[in-house]
Amino acid sequence: MRRNTLWIVILVILQGCGGALISNQQEREIGAGVDQQLKKEYRLVHSNDPVAKWAKEFVAPLQRASVRFRDPKEIGGYKVAVIADNKLVNAFAAPGGYTYLSTGLILQSKTCAEIAGVMGHELAHVTQRHGAKSIESSFAVEQIVSLFLSDGLAAGSAVLIWQFLSSTTFSRDDENEADTVGLQISYGAGYNPDGLADFFRVLLKAEKGASAPEFLSSHPATGKRIRSVERQIRKRYRGNAKRKSTKCRTRMKLAEIKRRIKSGKLKLGPKTVQKKTTRTDAIRHWKTAMDRHKIKQKSKTRKSSSQKAKPKPKN
Ligand SMILES: [Zn+2]
Repeated sequence: MRRNTLWIVILVILQGCGGALISNQQEREIGAGVDQQLKKEYRLVHSNDPVAKWAKEFVAPLQRASVRFRDPKEIGGYKVAVIADNKLVNAFAAPGGYTYLSTGLILQSKTCAEIAGVMGHELAHVTQRHGAKSIESSFAVEQIVSLFLSDGLAAGSAVLIWQFLSSTTFSRDDENEADTVGLQISYGAGYNPDGLADFFRVLLKAEKGASAPEFLSSHPATGKRIRSVERQIRKRYRGNAKRKSTKCRTRMKLAEIKRRIKSGKLKLGPKTVQKKTTRTDAIRHWKTAMDRHKIKQKSKTRKSSSQKAKPKPKN
């Protein structure tokens, strides 16, 4: 009974804070945890390599254009890394502004407006808090609170959250919102917003090949979606969209970046890759982790009802 009252009090406090269960600081901690886990499954390009530096420079104007949707300072700015995998066509954004794009995606893109379309869309998932919201709606309040300690993420939480996020796809509404906001971010950064529709068309073509790009599994590029993006661009920008750039607003050109990727001279980050789990693996692990978590919670509840609460020792 006392425990129930406590959760009601926490809920009331959280609702008073604008309804968000996960704070900006916690979003950053989640992102840092995801980054840690991602490096176990993917090899990143070293942050000193020209390709990684180019990616950072590429995202800077997108970050500036995203301010009207959410102040990047709330999450300590966007962190950008490149996944070194020429066969993987994917981009990903975690809560807290941790964003990734693969070398395969760069190689598949014909213009920088296409990459800006994809990255604008990914930044929009962060400005609109889609990742944080999906955790808030899928975990019970009690579970969310227990993911964190007073000094950050609790042990095991990073694995649990990574497995959850990598096995969850955003709702169609979230995807549509990320398209709409992302278009405005890429346009605001000086890029022709048609890039997003162009990239989806590239994906549609690639889908007919033997192995579909991974980006498609979470971002189905249907004709309907492409038409909706095009309709929005016509309505919002009329003829002005075409006046914006399709070329990179970076010192290095896309052709140079592609050449460096293909050269095989990329400097790679530390080798922490353990095992590439498949999608089903991630789901199975997540379920197991969730079950373990629930069991833990149950035993904790039993313990706390049978003995007086003691202050937790700090690690
Ligand atoms: Zn998306």
